[in-house]
Amino acid sequence: MSARILVVEDEPGLVLTLEDRLRAEGYVVGVARDGADGFNRASAEPWDLILLDGMLPRKSGFDVCRDLRAKGVKTPVLMLTARGQVSDRVVGLKLGADDYLVKPFDMSELLARIEARLRRDAAPPGSAIPNTLTFGRIQVDFRRAEVTKSGAPVELSGKELHLLRYFLEHPRATLSRTELLEAVWGYSTVPFTRTVDVHVANLRRKLEDDPARPSMIHTIHGLGYKFVVPA
Ligand code: CA
Repeated sequence: MSARILVVEDEPGLVLTLEDRLRAEGYVVGVARDGADGFNRASAEPWDLILLDGMLPRKSGFDVCRDLRAKGVKTPVLMLTARGQVSDRVVGLKLGADDYLVKPFDMSELLARIEARLRRDAAPPGSAIPNTLTFGRIQVDFRRAEVTKSGAPVELSGKELHLLRYFLEHPRATLSRTELLEAVWGYSTVPFTRTVDVHVANLRRKLEDDPARPSMIHTIHGLGYKFVVPA
């Protein structure tokens, strides 16, 4: 069944672009052109995701988000915020938004975020991977927090282990830095995407045969990382 996405946006050109592209991707798309209409449709109809502009006529996107959460509507919200308004991002997340993108954004980045959010909500918790597994020359025991490479112990920090687990749970998927930050670090602290790069570099150094030419953790330029399980 196709996922249903509600677009709440007042810029006519962007609405057209989003409608076209999302429909082409196979999503069912609804459109609201102001905050009041957006709030009504978001609370009255079933949606899998809401794309919510911050600056809207009649009711701001921030107010829409806050009021939806207050009403108990738990649909994931991806906020579209204006460039440079860093506080908008923080405010949006505090009001219950799940993710944000700064305008103008790349359509490919938006589609990756949407896909990531829908995939996360679709995955039943705890179903993912066994506690012990072997790939290539590496053996991992998540319960004991032990990793070995060719039988020799490898020291991983808690976050590195958590990151490795998330990679293993999502093989071959393009994972954005934002998704990795949220999954491993949570949004309790102000996110610095550089944190992800540093930890990925550590994992490569400890696990890859040639960290400069990684065979497991691949960089997807402009988007994030992809984990490929070695044969
Ligand atoms: Ca707007």
